Amino acid sequence: MAIETKDEPLITVGIMERRDHVEGRLNGTFSVDGAGPETDRETNRLTGGFSAIAAPGGIVLRDAAGRVVGRSPSFRIKGGGPATFDLFGVTIGSRFHWERSENQTFHGNLVLRAGADGTMAAINEVPVEAYLESVISSEMNASAPAELLKSHAILSRSWLLAALRRKRGPQRTRGEAAHVPEREGEVVRWYGREEHDLFDVCADDHCQRYHGVTKITSQGARDAVRQTRGIVLAWGDEICDARYSKACGGLTEEFGTAWDDARHPYLTSVADAPDPYPPVTTEIEAARWCLSAPYAYCNTKDEEILKEILPAFDRETEGFFRWTVEYPHEELEQILYEKSGFDFGRLQALVPLARGPSGRIFRLRVIGTKMSMIVGKELEIRRWLSHTHLYSSAFVVRAGDAGLTPERFVFHGAGWGHGVGLCQIGAAVMASRGSSAEEIVGHYFPGTTLRGLY
Ligand SMILES: [Zn+2]
Ligand SMILES: [Zn+2]
Repeated sequence: MAIETKDEPLITVGIMERRDHVEGRLNGTFSVDGAGPETDRETNRLTGGFSAIAAPGGIVLRDAAGRVVGRSPSFRIKGGGPATFDLFGVTIGSRFHWERSENQTFHGNLVLRAGADGTMAAINEVPVEAYLESVISSEMNASAPAELLKSHAILSRSWLLAALRRKRGPQRTRGEAAHVPEREGEVVRWYGREEHDLFDVCADDHCQRYHGVTKITSQGARDAVRQTRGIVLAWGDEICDARYSKACGGLTEEFGTAWDDARHPYLTSVADAPDPYPPVTTEIEAARWCLSAPYAYCNTKDEEILKEILPAFDRETEGFFRWTVEYPHEELEQILYEKSGFDFGRLQALVPLARGPSGRIFRLRVIGTKMSMIVGKELEIRRWLSHTHLYSSAFVVRAGDAGLTPERFVFHGAGWGHGVGLCQIGAAVMASRGSSAEEIVGHYFPGTTLRGLY
């Protein structure tokens, strides 16, 4: 993924997927590419309402009066300038309790593409920077400090352009949702981002949340993108696959604790503090780490900062730096059974076998009276030990009673999320104390530089 300087790329963002029809309105005059032989020259201009239906042999595109504009597996409907288009009934918050549909407005081009399963996708083709203005507005609170918004713009741009290089590059590999190496007595999984077939990124949290121009209300987010235009985080000639999580807990984590063993030299462990801390290497050190509250940028209870960066429902999570979760043995056995599908019998012990430098466990032995199993990596461990997810896999377990059959299991943990890359709460604290975006990303991604691509 060498960096070459070129123009600002266009990206394709999937707005609606697996639809049998799409309706909307073109606010301006658009030209239609790819309408196929049955389109005469006069009808390749289109304005106002339109509808498209997925049919055998391709998509049938109609104008406001219901006249067929064309039939094709793919249309590119080009606006240009200030022209916008609306899509009706876009699903947002899919899979969340607040899922609903709304009409959304976009700049750039509308692409309609038929999928292999006989459905279609509505796609927005848009310049990268316009896309980022929308993403940063959607993901960050408008009142967040300017240098934090700029850090986020640089990270989002880096992640996106690194993903595009991977996807469009010569040795394109299909990402998989879950990676499961097979070994007797072990369930070691991690979750990557599945690649999309018909477009580069989706508009949902799976990639980055994007609502077109509908929700760009934050001048701060817009300024942050404009002031960092074309700038990415680079490691030598490579665009960094920049990661971030909510709160590291005092030390950030290495890439391999959460994903595959590939080493990314810039995704290494650093102290979330001005001076370094030694890595957590033994169980004694893990206990000392999880049961104490060392100085760290993300060790904050500053309501103002948390309000600026966390959505309201996240702020209910008060203990994210150090936390405690406790279960009677029956409850934890039931959770383990539901999450893993294995009946361990009476739970005897949870034994950490390997930890990353932040204390996050990536191999854990679960021992019951009926069976024993090794689980990894960090996300799978968090899934197995909670009705939802444990905040992190950096924990020590204290059994409620001495002896071989504990009555209760008490988890004392550190941090929130995988801990790899930038610590969002730590970065917000750094920004509020006057650090620049360059200092913030330099702190969490040591050895990287900022490079202007266009
Ligand atoms: Zn996606
Ligand atoms: Zn942190």
